[in-house]
Amino acid sequence: MKKLLIIVLLLPLFFMMNVPYSTAAGGTIERIDGANRFEVAVNISKKGWSTTGNTVVLANANAFADALSAAPLAYYKNAPILLTQKDQLTAITKQEMIRLSPSEVILVGGEGSISDQVISEIKSLGIHNVRRIAGSDRFEVSAAIAAELPASSKIVIADGTKFPDALAIAPYAARNGYPILLTLPNSLPSTIQNAVKARNAQSSIVVGGLASVSSQVASQLPAPQRIGGSDRYEVAANIIRQLNMKTDKVFLATGLSFADALTGSVLAAKQNAPILLTHSNYLPEATKKIIIEKSIINFTVLGGLASVPANVVNQTALSLLGLTIVVDAGHGGSDTGAVGNGLKEEDITLDVAKRLQSKLSAQGAKVIMTRTSDTYPTLTERVEMANSIGADVFVSIHINSSTSPSASGTETYWNRTYAAAESKELATYIQRELIDELGTKDRGVKEANFYVIKNSKMASVLTELAFISNSNDAKLLKTSTFREKAAQAIFQGISAYWKNQ
Ligand SMILES: [Zn+2]
Repeated sequence: MKKLLIIVLLLPLFFMMNVPYSTAAGGTIERIDGANRFEVAVNISKKGWSTTGNTVVLANANAFADALSAAPLAYYKNAPILLTQKDQLTAITKQEMIRLSPSEVILVGGEGSISDQVISEIKSLGIHNVRRIAGSDRFEVSAAIAAELPASSKIVIADGTKFPDALAIAPYAARNGYPILLTLPNSLPSTIQNAVKARNAQSSIVVGGLASVSSQVASQLPAPQRIGGSDRYEVAANIIRQLNMKTDKVFLATGLSFADALTGSVLAAKQNAPILLTHSNYLPEATKKIIIEKSIINFTVLGGLASVPANVVNQTALSLLGLTIVVDAGHGGSDTGAVGNGLKEEDITLDVAKRLQSKLSAQGAKVIMTRTSDTYPTLTERVEMANSIGADVFVSIHINSSTSPSASGTETYWNRTYAAAESKELATYIQRELIDELGTKDRGVKEANFYVIKNSKMASVLTELAFISNSNDAKLLKTSTFREKAAQAIFQGISAYWKNQ
């Protein structure tokens, strides 16, 4: 034993955690990496458990059934969850066992999950207190795990035939000392019925939609509160929403396999952080939506690049997170605005506004449009939309016109009544980007008393993209290329401004 310890201490650090890095959104991303699930589990353990003499919970690396309920027990015992093959420990797991030198190892599941051979292996490491929490099926195992937890006012019920819902709620359940009991989607197994009774909890959290836990099952539970969702990603997001979980930092794991989320859930619980799930090819809409809604900027990514690739992680780093912006397409409805050269101002402003909206939303801004079709909100209504929600930025888009056909170019206005410095700064950024992108004549940044920028209480500007009355400008205004460039320029101007706030 002693010899082994020395060898381990002398081993170089093969398993360095990736260095945390800062993102465009001003947050930090840290990855707990690993060549496979065994190594990820070990690196999670290293990150969260520096002292020896604790408990270790050991689960089968390839079968989630018995492991789904393990997180609350692991958290209660201040134990990392390590993974094993059915008949053999991997070398890296052995080394971690030696480092942790646990006072107790708990195997979750019967011999069908982890064989007695593994117990012998652990004992040969000099760790003698090894026991199982077993049962004839996953339901019995979850009931047996629950029986080891102290009394609680609440229980959690999740579908035992799939892993995502149980793992998404694991950090919350663990931290609050609520057991996770498993059920079949359409019937509550008698083992669990008994466990629920024995537990005598006053209320329950049902995780997953009706296809995961039917209303018939839910009706057999004390005061059930359902956290549903259209898919696993939305369920994980709704757990954060409905339970009002802290989102200073969020763990991100693949939703396609269970291992990393399982072993990471105990560390997440220790750090009081929820888990969000992602697809390996893209960041799911539901996940992105909650990131925007809660302005989540700090992530711990669980697993290697094959599970959660860098390009997926990068999609979380939205540069306009936290920005609420009102985009005002000038005129509309009964008010066509300026007309000339076969063009109507109201159409162009709406087109550019919609293009701008999609660019802003893609980077995580909350965008409120004063209009999305050919309607006319009054100027007071437009301003009220921004003031009532406490928007950060108001941008009004217009097209200029003059009785002199030679007048041409681009200008951007601000007003000093509210947020004078910010408004001028925003106008300056937007004007600079517009001139760069459009190559139009630079008419400059100007102050004016236009109603919408005078009465909006936040950084607010009104931009006049070009002259509808000038034949050259009008030719440009007709093209989607020009409109796209204009939207891009305004987007860049807002981004530059927001970065400096
Ligand atoms: Zn106008």
